[in-house]
Amino acid sequence: MLITGASRGIGAATALLAAEQRFAVAVNYHQNKAAADKVVAEIISAGGTAVAIQADISKEEDVIRLFSETDRLLGNLSSLVNNAGILERQMRLEDMDAARLQRIFTANITGQFLCAREAIKRMSLKHGGQGGTIVNVSSIAARTGAPNEYIDYAASKGALDAFTIGLSKELAKEGIRVNAVRPAFIYTDIHAAGGEPGRIERIKDSIPLKRGGTVREVAEAILWLASEKSSYSTGTFIDVTGGK
Ligand code: NAP
Repeated sequence: MLITGASRGIGAATALLAAEQRFAVAVNYHQNKAAADKVVAEIISAGGTAVAIQADISKEEDVIRLFSETDRLLGNLSSLVNNAGILERQMRLEDMDAARLQRIFTANITGQFLCAREAIKRMSLKHGGQGGTIVNVSSIAARTGAPNEYIDYAASKGALDAFTIGLSKELAKEGIRVNAVRPAFIYTDIHAAGGEPGRIERIKDSIPLKRGGTVREVAEAILWLASEKSSYSTGTFIDVTGGK
């Protein structure tokens, strides 16, 4: 299983759970080598198999190298988790510039298209592969639009949802299922990147379950969709949002 952005947060929890479920895991990271190495060390010390691979998924040459390194170090790919994603400081649209929009859409949608393309070349029955699964990590923002905070991020996740539906139909006859998880209010570093590390505490009371979620709770949904347990589901979504 190749997991993008697996050095921290939801991706790291997914890597640990995948290893518990006997996947050999490629732990992709962008800049934080120490965090990725820590995830790999934890998996290896528990008897699992994992490697850390640096790649910026918004760069095509990096994505190509990420997959060829995964082939070389772990062998046949059976699952891709398109988890890496970014957001930037909360602001309204009139303050956003083109450079920001470019960064958000390249990291949150172009990168996922490129990773899926490389996975299809390896997993599709049409290309001599053995089938597999793709799980996209979207967001509740695709439904809410995230007004006054980051509608650019929300729009990139809306695009990811349309991508999930279209690609699931494109690949259904080729042994590849494509699904998505839509988390919200999960305790990770991403809220600090938006300029509000305490965001979950501010909105907690409006969440029906009255708390933020854990990375493990999202990882459980991702692993269900990535595994044979979800064998009759494709083009579908699991919201992990505390009922919101
Ligand atoms: P996070 O804690 O900020 O971690 C982000 C991860 O993505 C890190 O491993 C980071 O690597 C990696 N990354 C960032 N840009 C990358 C790039 N260009 N290429 C490769 N890797 C890159 O984020 P998170 O909260 O776990 O979020 C994971 C996913 O869940 C994202 O798609 C996010 O949109 C989605 N999500 C999160 C929440 C939430 O409440 N946390 C809610 C809805 C959706 P480095 O460590 O090397 O920087």
